[in-house]
Formats: sequence, C-alpha cells, structure tokens
Amino acid sequence: MTTRDKAGCGHDGPALPLSEALDRVLAAVTPVSESERMPIREALGRVMARDVRSAIDVPAHDNSAMDGYALRSADLPDAAPWKLRLIGAALAGRPFDARVGEGECVRIMTGAPVPEGADTVVMQERVEADNDRVQINALPAPGANVRLAGEDIRAGDVALSAGGQLRPAHIGLLASIGISEADVLRRPRVAFFSTGDELCEVGTPTEPGQIYDSNRYTLFGMLQRLGVEIVDLGVIRDRPDELEAGLRRAAEGADLIVTSGGVSVGEADYLVEIFERLGQIDFWSVAMKPGRPTVFGTLGDALYFGLPGNPVSVMATFYQLARPAILKLSGLGLQVPVLISATCAATIETKAGRTEFLRGVLSRGEQGHYVVAKTGHQGSGILSSMTQANCFIVIPEGAEVIEAGSQVDVQPFEALV
Ligand code: AMP
Ligand code: MG
Repeated sequence: MTTRDKAGCGHDGPALPLSEALDRVLAAVTPVSESERMPIREALGRVMARDVRSAIDVPAHDNSAMDGYALRSADLPDAAPWKLRLIGAALAGRPFDARVGEGECVRIMTGAPVPEGADTVVMQERVEADNDRVQINALPAPGANVRLAGEDIRAGDVALSAGGQLRPAHIGLLASIGISEADVLRRPRVAFFSTGDELCEVGTPTEPGQIYDSNRYTLFGMLQRLGVEIVDLGVIRDRPDELEAGLRRAAEGADLIVTSGGVSVGEADYLVEIFERLGQIDFWSVAMKPGRPTVFGTLGDALYFGLPGNPVSVMATFYQLARPAILKLSGLGLQVPVLISATCAATIETKAGRTEFLRGVLSRGEQGHYVVAKTGHQGSGILSSMTQANCFIVIPEGAEVIEAGSQVDVQPFEALV
C-alpha cells in the first residue's frame, strides 16, 4: 500500500474534514524561538520573546485626574462651609514643591503631581475662587480624583508577557515604562513559488495559451500581511526535475514553503509524487470547497503547503490552513477564529460532506443585525469574487441547504489580515 492509498488521504478516497486537517497542521508546527532586539516602533506586530518587567511605577507619582484644587481632606470639618487659602499651583510637568498645610489648598491641573500634604482633589466646577480665597461647595470623598503612583503598573511587575503580539497599546506601554527596545521573536521565513507551464510574469506579453501568474501576488499579499520574511522563488515549469530542485531550494533556510498548482490529478501535476519522495506527506485532500486538493507535509525542517492552482482555492486554503500555521509558527498563542453570525439573504444550496467557503457581502440590516448575501460567480477560478466580497460565508460540512432568513457563520476578510 502506498501512502496515497491511506484511508482519508487519497485523491479518490474520502478527504480529511477541515477541522481535522487544521488540528494536524497545528500539531506539526513548532514556533520559532530565536529572538532579536529592535526599536519598539519597528517591533510593532512582532511577538514578545520574553517577559518584560517594569523598573518604575506608572504613574510615577500620585497625580490629579482633574483640573481643580488639591487639599488635605483630614483637616476639613464635617459640614460646609469649607474655606481654604490658595498657596500656589501645580501643573503637569511643573510640580508645586512645598507642603500643603492645614487650611491650605493648591490649584492643580490634570496630570500634575499631588503636592506633599494633600491627598484629595476637588474639581474646579465645585469651587468658587476669589484671589487666594477658595470656597468648596461640594466636598469630594477623601482620596477622590487622585491617580495613585503605580496604579497602572508597579515597579517590578511583569508589564508584558512573552508570546504576546505587540499591538499599538503594547508599544505605547513599553514607552510608558521607559523601554525603547524590545526583544522579539524572529519572523518566520516563508518561501513560495507558482507552478505551471501556462504562467507568464506580469510585465511581459503573453504567448498563446498563457495566463498571468496571479497567485504569487495574492500569496505575497497574504504573507506580507502576516509579517513574515518572504522568499519569492518565482514560477517553476511543470517539469519534475525543476520542481524537485525548486522544493529543495525552498527548503533551504525556510520555515515554511507554499506552492500553488500542480497538486491535482492532471497529467502535469507532479508535485505530490515528488514531494512524497523528498518529504513526509501528512495529507493531500481536504473536505473543503474550494480547495480539496491541498497537500500538507514536512520537508526537512520546513513545513510544506501545496495549495491548488485555482486563484480562489489558493486564497481559501491559505486562510483556513496556512495562516493558522504561520501564526503559530510566529510564536502567537492559540488564535480564536473570528466568526460573525449573520442572516442569510437568500437560500443557499450546497453539498454535504465538505466545508464550503462562499464569497459574500456582509452588511448591517434594518435592525442593525448582520445580513449576508453571496456575491455573483462562485467558481474557484473567479478571483474577482474575492475582490467584490468582504467575507467568506462558511457552510458547515453537514449542511445541504441554508434557508433564506436562517443564521450562517461568516468570516470577515477584515479579521483575516
Ligand atoms: P492546477 O492546480 O495546476 O491544475 O491549476 C488549476 C487552475 O489554476 C488552472 O486553470 C491554472 O491555469 C490555474 N493556475 C495555476 N496556477 C496559477 C497562477 N499562479 N496564477 C493564476 N492561475 C493559476
Ligand atoms: Mg498546473
């Protein structure tokens, strides 16, 4: 028995359910571990290589949350009138550097350090001031309107944990604790090439029977959005020796290889056979549409995705299988897929036994809930369906018909970048 005859794997046998294919992919991924140090702005989108502890309190000192007057709550009588003498002002970056004594107060602006002796800020709207005489009309609770030193982050605490992605808030937080450089995991390196005798590079005129290679552009776009290091190996003809050389070259130094085309059962589809010899195939058929002939395996230390050639199939299989693998490879923890429940605008007929990814347009309906409709042509070669859509409509494996008005899961493209 060759590996191709294995139950659940062969081209002609039953294909692997998508959820199982994804489990197998994720089980095969070992995240990168090498790290590099860089300025925090450059580190945006990268993954923290280690925990970062703060050396300082944030805020560094007790400060005012309001524009108002800083006072000593303990000195004040229980009932009005509360009259205090104004002895100075504290502004953000310009502290009042004397002590506030009994019966005294200090004009204070948001962010200014609360002067020594004071513990409470009364907002200016509750105060009548006349030169150095200040009358408070409504007394705040002791400690009100004061942001305490260390209430955001305490000196010595872990401010950011390893494995977290540096989003805008994270680089801002690093800045808030005075850290200008971050240790982040290196980016995974992804090598990719297109296969096909019919492919022509953009910028050159096509010969009869040729088409432009678009997959290398959609793949470039999807990879670039994931922040990986890209190795573009161009187009490789449908020649076994050239394909073999291409795979070997791709495996040198790449963590992951993506190819498009050549994995189906046509006469010029050599990749599965070649890969079987060179590497270890995990599966080559997934119960999804578009994208059934999708190969996954390992070649040396690299993971391999042999995606089908049809332009929509490439994108659907990349998003459903390669993207989660790349996110894990990047060092990110489990990623929860974003699914929105939407009302189906028209009945969708489908075939049970595979997960379908229809191209849809998601919009807000009358009551503000989501409504989704298929975009026009759903063929796996119709790339314009991807440009006109803003989501995948996900039809589960067991479904045969989705009635108009019923709920269906939708994957917004916005969540797939
Ligand atoms: P294949 O998977 O190689 O049988 O290709 C399936 C279909 O996708 C064929 O119509 C190919 O011409 C088309 N195709 C394959 N590779 C590309 C590519 N890089 N760009 C655009 N179309 C492609
Ligand atoms: Mg081909």
